Amino acid sequence: MNPMALRRVARQVHIGTVRLGGDAPIVVQSMTNTDTADVEATTAQVLALAQAGSELVRVTVNSAEAARGVAPLRAALDRAGCAIPLVGDFHFNGHKLLAEFPDCARALAKFRINPGNVGPGSRRDEQFARLIQLALEYDKPVRIGVNWGSLDPQVMARFMDDNGRLPQPEPVTQVMRRALVASALESAAQAEAWGLSGDRIVLSCKVSGVQDLIAVYRDLAQRCDYPLHLGLTEAGMGTQGVVASTAALAVLLQEGIGDTIRVSLTPEPGGDRAEEVRVAQQILQSQGLRAFTPQVTACPGCGRTTSTYFQSLAQRIEVYLRQQMPVWRQRYPGVEGLHVAVMGCVVNGPGESKLADIGISLPGSGERPVAPVYVDGAKTVTLKGEHIAEEFQALVAQYVQRRYGGEQS
Ligand code: SF4
Repeated sequence: MNPMALRRVARQVHIGTVRLGGDAPIVVQSMTNTDTADVEATTAQVLALAQAGSELVRVTVNSAEAARGVAPLRAALDRAGCAIPLVGDFHFNGHKLLAEFPDCARALAKFRINPGNVGPGSRRDEQFARLIQLALEYDKPVRIGVNWGSLDPQVMARFMDDNGRLPQPEPVTQVMRRALVASALESAAQAEAWGLSGDRIVLSCKVSGVQDLIAVYRDLAQRCDYPLHLGLTEAGMGTQGVVASTAALAVLLQEGIGDTIRVSLTPEPGGDRAEEVRVAQQILQSQGLRAFTPQVTACPGCGRTTSTYFQSLAQRIEVYLRQQMPVWRQRYPGVEGLHVAVMGCVVNGPGESKLADIGISLPGSGERPVAPVYVDGAKTVTLKGEHIAEEFQALVAQYVQRRYGGEQS
């Protein structure tokens, strides 16, 4: 069954121009890793994340210099024609920064607060209340984000004490899971008691273990109707981070849980921050929850292929489609649903190509050096010679123009 049909019904929260929860599509978000005080670098990174398809971007606001940078950042994005809402990430000094830098507060579309990190001991409630008061003053929604690594120590101590009194105490992991959920829900209840409306609250409970994340969010989803931000925190680098995030998020999304996602990948040194956006999009697209970019079906290759030519062609087509999308998205509505196949031989090639909107079956080992092209299930042309890649790319462009271009074709 389509997981959208099972989607948990959450209240709808507006974050600038973006809707979360209700019947809104699941939103992809990301976070910068530049110093927010460096407006030029942060502007460039937010633009790159937005260009990759991020729909919300979070920035760190951890110092006076960072807070001072937020309004110029917003202005620079607006000048560049990028309206993406910015989320400010606040911790211990958030209440002071928001009070001292009203332009920063105004420029942000949402405040992200971790109740376990807003202040020590008895000052926690006072500073949390002040943050909520500031959210009310500036009419901003709030994400209450509880993290495994910064769980409110008072809540954890209470749960551990209660557990210790049980005849058969639960394992610490179970207690921590319950404490995390309780911390998020109690903090949300406090925020509501201080006047923040329930439709101005988003919740997250981020942990770094796949099984913990699944258990925590299942519990949270049953116990509230706030929109939920899903993400495996500290997922790691490269393949490990991608696989762990996908494993955790896919299970929850299949159960209809999650209104916005972020994939917390650690980039390689000098790596592309926007990779986390592409992974998040793929997680949603592969499950049929959203469509962002035309899908390229490519076979893995095997002993029947004589060269890596078909791999290069598949990659070329994928890069080409991704590069065209910023323009195509505007010009050709629905193009994100396009399905292209690039196959390595005649065993599965024609079949997969017929199932795609447009597909090519390259010659395998010992096969005639020709490449039949299928359009909407029918063979239309056979390419051969030195320029198969260029010719197929041109055929894809013509297909897009004809099918999605309407009057413009
Ligand atoms: S389509 Fe052909 S080349 Fe590709 S994996 Fe299958 S048998 Fe191998």
